[in-house]
Formats: sequence, structure tokens, C-alpha cells
Amino acid sequence: MADKFDVIVIGAGPGGYVAAIRAAQLGLKTACVEKWVNKEGKTVHGGTCLNVGCIPSKALLETSHKFVEARDHYDEIGIEVGELTPNIAKMLEFKEKVIAKNVGGISALFKANGVTALEGTGKVISSKQVEVTGHDGEKATYDADNIVIASGSVPVEIPPTPLTDNLIVDSSGALEFTEVPKRLGVIGAGVIGLELGSVWSRLGSEVTMLEAMDTFLPVVDQAVAKETLKLLKKQGLDIKLGARVTGSEVKGNEVVVKYTDSKGEQEVTFDKLIVCVGRRPYTQGVLGDDVGVKLDERGFIFVDDHCRTSVPGVYAIGDCVRGLMLAHKASEEGVMVADIIAGHKAEMNYDAIPSVIYTAPEVAWVGMTEEEAKSAGIEVKTGSFPFSANGRALANNAPDGLAKIVADAETDRILGVHIVSQHAGELIAQGVIAMEFGSSAEDLALTCYAHPSTSEAIHEAALAVDGHAIHMANRKKRK
Ligand code: FAD
Ligand code: AMP
Repeated sequence: MADKFDVIVIGAGPGGYVAAIRAAQLGLKTACVEKWVNKEGKTVHGGTCLNVGCIPSKALLETSHKFVEARDHYDEIGIEVGELTPNIAKMLEFKEKVIAKNVGGISALFKANGVTALEGTGKVISSKQVEVTGHDGEKATYDADNIVIASGSVPVEIPPTPLTDNLIVDSSGALEFTEVPKRLGVIGAGVIGLELGSVWSRLGSEVTMLEAMDTFLPVVDQAVAKETLKLLKKQGLDIKLGARVTGSEVKGNEVVVKYTDSKGEQEVTFDKLIVCVGRRPYTQGVLGDDVGVKLDERGFIFVDDHCRTSVPGVYAIGDCVRGLMLAHKASEEGVMVADIIAGHKAEMNYDAIPSVIYTAPEVAWVGMTEEEAKSAGIEVKTGSFPFSANGRALANNAPDGLAKIVADAETDRILGVHIVSQHAGELIAQGVIAMEFGSSAEDLALTCYAHPSTSEAIHEAALAVDGHAIHMANRKKRK
């Protein structure tokens, strides 16, 4: 007889593994199927995030940032170092160690929580059955009262730049360069393109970024986006906006890229090209015929606000469903779904999901931008504060950036928090908590912040909403 579970999760990325752990913690008999195999042929958990996404990219961002700090900025603070050279092989080794530690951690958590790890490719063959094809091709069928699909996403490929073994690569390939490309092209100046472009630019590449849109980071508050563009250009990233890539040709060890911009047809030659034009949901082979799980018009699994698909008992979470393609959004959906399956009431607050771009400085935001709020017809008031007026940021030799709060003009409720600064990815948690608790700008303004801390810039931005910033000379008149 087939093994029977309360819950079977397909995919062990940050959506799936979290859903499985939570379900097991709630006393449900849980299995999680994963098909990802690493270079050594071993099944690994953690999905895109741990293997080729969030974690390895942050390992390389951190090492390359440390290198630039030491090379270009230590002498400003009185530390003299000799000539520095990055050791790419060692950096990659460090990145692999970080991946291995994280991936091993998930397997240990599965064991500790009693999650059954099934190795192979899972397919929903009915609303209560999952077929697993092992790496050896053997098939087994498992019964489940509930199924959670967490099959994730893959990079988008575009016809003008088909990937090659080694010259034209996607984000995964860009984490594997064994030497620093002299001329590096990046298509797409979105979150992933900016992070990977930054890594290799810091290590010595001349980086040209070709972005089809005229607006830089249109999803980011434009005051923050403009500041970010200025700072990244100063670092040497040649970000070309309004540049749509139309073709490419591999010539020996080089790739010639054609693009159009306001001046017409252009051509540029690179030693490597990274294609970072977004990600698409991955559902290939996950749904058996006639199961009835519907996809939306963009290929995402269709779900409601509680991640229920069109088939009762079958849920879908993370990158394979609508919404932000972020690890923590996937994980929170995993928690919500496990809670619902266990019979609890659970909700997601989709309005308070933070986003971070791990450039230097980092860009982080939560909630509405000023532009979004205005176009939704909301009257807003805003407060901004520059890190150049923050004592700790100056002491950290990191004075770039600003913090901005967008609040409802009538109720004072915080609608959005936007930061570009060192460690903005950490600071944004304050904005998320404030929004979760429905805080007003005044609530933050009346909060006591530790001094000196970069968090004080958020305090000052909250004070600035009503023109009361303390450390700003040209503040608005107090009402
Ligand atoms: P995934 O992580 O894609 O996991 C899906 C899993 O399902 C995979 O392991 C896959 O093998 C498995 N699977 C698929 N089909 C089957 C099947 N039929 N049977 C068994 N297993 C199956 N997000 C952030 O929040 N912060 C970041 O800093 C960040 N940085 C990123 C950097 C890069 C370079 C990239 C590429 C992505 C980054 N992301 C980041 C995005 C983040 O990785 C994704 O949002 C996140 O991994 C989505 O989680 P998921 O569980 O939905 O899917
Ligand atoms: P993101 O969705 O944040 O990963 O960003 C992907 C970026 O790639 C978007 O800003 C797109 O405008 C950009 N993009 C997509 N296709 C092209 C193209 N052919 N040429 C240049 N940029 C592109």
C-alpha cells in the first residue's frame, strides 16, 4: 500500500521547506519532495535561494565589498594596506562552503522535525496523490490529504541572447566565473542584474548594463532610485537606460551585442554577458493531466489570497504563484498554508513585505512609494533624512543615502518606508514592524532610538514628516 501523508510538499526551496517544517511542527505527517541535485550528484534542499540565489549572491557581494573597502577606503580611516588582489578561486570556495552549510542545515531541520525527505521529481496526479520519479527513474505513488506545490521559478531567456556554455550566461552562470571578465555586459538593470553587476565590477570588470526601460528601478520610490543611480554610476557601473537588446553574435571568445536606444542601432562587445531579465514560474512536469489546477495567463499557478489553487486540498506558494518573487514571501506563504491545513486561521499581509537590493549602499523598501500612493489617489506627506547628517553613518565612513517615510496626509498612518544606505536591508525591518502594527509617523517620531545608530535616520525621517527633524537645517516649517 502507498505511504500516506497528511501533507506532501513539492519543492524544498524557502517556500517548500518552511511549509514542510511548519506542518510537521503542527503535528502533521509531512513529506517534502526535492529533485535538485548538486555537482556531486547529491539531492540538496534549499532551492534557488540557497543554491544559486540569495545566499551565494550575498556571499560574493560581501567578499567583493570587503575587497573594495580594503582597497579603496581603508586609507581614508587610517588603515594602510599594501596592494590587494582578489583570489577568485578562494572566493568561490567560500561561497560553496556557505551554500553547503545552509543546505546541510535544512536536511538537519527535516530530520529534527520528522519531515520525510523524498528524492526525485514530484507530480500531482490527483488531488490526493503525488507520484515521485526517483533519480534512477523508479516511480512511487504517495497518498496525501493535502498537497503544497512550491516548485519555484527559473530565469527568463530572451531570443536575442540565447545562453551559451560559457559566454552568455544567466544569473547562475554569473556566480561561477572563475576569472574576472574584462568587459562584462549585463542585460537588465533590475534587482539581480544590479547585484551581479556590482560583484564583478568591484572585482575589476568594466560593467555595462543595458536596460530597456527609461526609468531606473520603477518599482522603487523615485527619490531613492535617483540617489541609487547616482551612487552606482559613481562606482563605475555604466548603466544605460532605454537600451533594448535586440541581438547577439558570438565571435570567438567575445560576444557582440546589438541594442537600440534613442540614437538608433548600437553595438557593443563583451568578454561575458549575463542575462538578467527576470524570472518565470516553473511548473514543468509538476501537474498531471486532468488534475484541474489552473494557471493564470502568465503561467503562474492560480491561487487565492490563502494560496488555495482551483482544486480543494491543493495549495501553491512562492515563486510559482503571483506576487513578489522573494524568498521570505515564499516562506511566509509556506507558514500560512501549513497553519491553514492544521485547522488554524492564518492570513498574509501582502502590504508589508520588504524588498532589498544588496548593492552598496543597499536599497530597501516596504509598502507604497510616493508615486504609487499618489496614483492611487491618496494624499500623502513625506519625510526624508540624509545619512550624511547621521553621526553613526559618518563614523562608519558610510554617509551615502537617505531614509524616506511616506505617510497618509489625513491619518498619519505609515504607507511606505524607503531607504538607500549601508545595511538598509537590516534597517528596513523597522519599517516592516511599524507597518505590521499600523503605526503612524508620529509613533516612530515619539520612539526613543539608541545613539549613535544609523536607525536614527529613520527616526529623523519620521520627525521630518511633520517638519520636526532635529538634525536638519532646512526643515519644513512646523505646523
Ligand atoms: P525555489 O527556491 O525556486 O525552489 C523551488 C524548488 O522546487 C527547487 O529546489 C526545485 O528543484 C524544486 N522543484 C521544482 N519542481 C519540482 C518537482 N516537480 N519535484 C521536486 N522538486 C521540484 N530573494 C530574496 O528574498 N532575497 C534575495 O536576496 C534574493 N536574491 C536572489 C539572487 C539571485 C541570483 C536569484 C536567482 C534569486 C534571488 N532571490 C532572492 C529570489 C529567491 O531565490 C526566490 O524568490 C526563492 O528562492 C523562491 O522560493 P521558492 O521556494 O518559491 O522556489
Ligand atoms: P527584474 O524583473 O527586476 O529581474 O529586472 C529585469 C529587467 O530586465 C527589467 O528591468 C527589464 O526591463 C529588463 N529587460 C528585459 N528585456 C530586456 C531587453 N531585451 N533589453 C534590455 N533590458 C531588458
